[in-house]
Amino acid sequence: MSTLEIKGLRAEVAGKEILQGIDLVVKSGEVHAIMGPNGAGKSTLSAVIMGKPGYKVLAGSVTLDGVDMLALPTWERAIAGLHLVMQYPTEVPGVHADQVMAEALTARHRGTEGMAARITQEALRINMDPELVTRALNVDLSGGEKKRNETMQLGVLEPKFAILDELDSGLDIDALRDCARRVEAATHESNLGVLAITHYVRLFEELKPDVVHIMVSGRIVASGGAELADQLEIDGYAAFV
Ligand code: ADP
Ligand code: MG
Repeated sequence: MSTLEIKGLRAEVAGKEILQGIDLVVKSGEVHAIMGPNGAGKSTLSAVIMGKPGYKVLAGSVTLDGVDMLALPTWERAIAGLHLVMQYPTEVPGVHADQVMAEALTARHRGTEGMAARITQEALRINMDPELVTRALNVDLSGGEKKRNETMQLGVLEPKFAILDELDSGLDIDALRDCARRVEAATHESNLGVLAITHYVRLFEELKPDVVHIMVSGRIVASGGAELADQLEIDGYAAFV
């Protein structure tokens, strides 16, 4: 059982305070959804958790099983067990997805024996063409192929926690179902904890949230069960501002 704990987190980017005190505790196997209007700071939160350059932490902490993540470079956070599925996966010309996986497994001291079979198994599970991993990472892939590729990586690497920044953006219904279903399965099979940033309740048809948080202007203004998301569908964010 692992715990990702965010306490009193305040952060700024480009001289502007965006996160104004975020408190969140996610445990293994739990799915926490974060919903909020554009500009609320949801992507900033994912960036600060993973250590994207340009974001300055003003106060608070992010710990994984008590270990200070903010003190580590991004790659060490990843090895510690944090995995970000980016809203817009980066295209990396000249580097193939299977090379990235080999490096990632080696860095985790897991070895690459059987890796190709493992990748193929994960790819087929989410209806992804296994041949895509022999192409340059995310280059010229469709929106759906990029997110399937990200989900395949998550399946092979088995992180402790996944942060999904709008998994549903740029995806058609079939791809969304395949990816969301795989993440939900990981919460049972490998006890994955999930922080799922989304605008759309339809994500929850496959990925069942234990807690829904509403984030407005860099703060979590409400937390509750899935019914909170249903209320949001009816009332919009006005009721929470
Ligand atoms: P959300 O994901 O909730 O839509 P973001 O975290 O992307 O919101 O953005 C919150 C605010 O921070 C916005 O006003 C955005 O313009 C600003 N912001 C985020 N990242 C940067 C950046 N790298 N440079 C300048 N401003 C940024
Ligand atoms: Mg965003």
